[in-house]
Amino acid sequence: MVNAEFVRMLETAGIPDADFDVKCIMEQVTGNRLASELHPEQKQQILNMIQRRSKGEPLQYILGEWEFYGLRMFVGKGVLIPRPDTEILVDTVLDWCKGKSGLKILDLCTGSGCIALALKKYLPDAEISAVDASETALSYARRNAEYHHLEIAFHHADVLDKDFAEQFQDCDIIVSNPPYLTGQEMQELQTEVRHEPAVALLGGSDKDGTYFYRKITSIWREAIKSGGLLAYEIGWKQAGRVSEFLNSNAFRQIQVIQDYEQRDRVVTGEKI
Ligand code: GLN
Repeated sequence: MVNAEFVRMLETAGIPDADFDVKCIMEQVTGNRLASELHPEQKQQILNMIQRRSKGEPLQYILGEWEFYGLRMFVGKGVLIPRPDTEILVDTVLDWCKGKSGLKILDLCTGSGCIALALKKYLPDAEISAVDASETALSYARRNAEYHHLEIAFHHADVLDKDFAEQFQDCDIIVSNPPYLTGQEMQELQTEVRHEPAVALLGGSDKDGTYFYRKITSIWREAIKSGGLLAYEIGWKQAGRVSEFLNSNAFRQIQVIQDYEQRDRVVTGEKI
């Protein structure tokens, strides 16, 4: 088999799931994950990709794309790779939206735009804005929006900037997957995750990684209309703290939703 040699190269480099990675790379280059013949230039291209993967670069960056909520998302260095766990946040928001229309939604720390775009896809009449502090991340988000012909108003801004937040009012929903890893967790990252932007991962100066939830909840509460939803993805040990922030900022109906591994992953609350 033509790809056995590539699989062996990745296995030798200690890459788990070598077979899967090779199939994805083959598909990307040849359009066929089991291609049995390669042109020399295809082989060279595949070898270059195998070499990058051998050094621990994430498969998603090498492919330049990854799927999120059934949508192709372009990704690369400088933007967080969309995670399956984040689909739970999208599911939670979409559940809350059932029977409602014309919603005004804001996605803070949008990164690749994956949350905003998945929501827009399933809520075509929603007015969705998305914010990120990284121009690189936004360039991917804009490209993803264009590719899917989904209209999102993107803003390059710091979500902790109070003056910026004051420009927004009457949102039905604010959704966010902010950086939330602790300093300790940043020390223990997998090789692949080390290739991703630290600014998208490190949850600020609070020891438990909850700085962004504390700040966003107080800075943005005024932008949410009464009865509106605030929905966060969280780190699995953060549900208690994040629920406290919601509670002390006059959010009620606080709910914690778990991921596929039965770990707390999403917290939501409705503004009084
Ligand atoms: N879930 C990501 C990880 O574990 C972290 C994403 C984030 O900080 N928002 O790598």
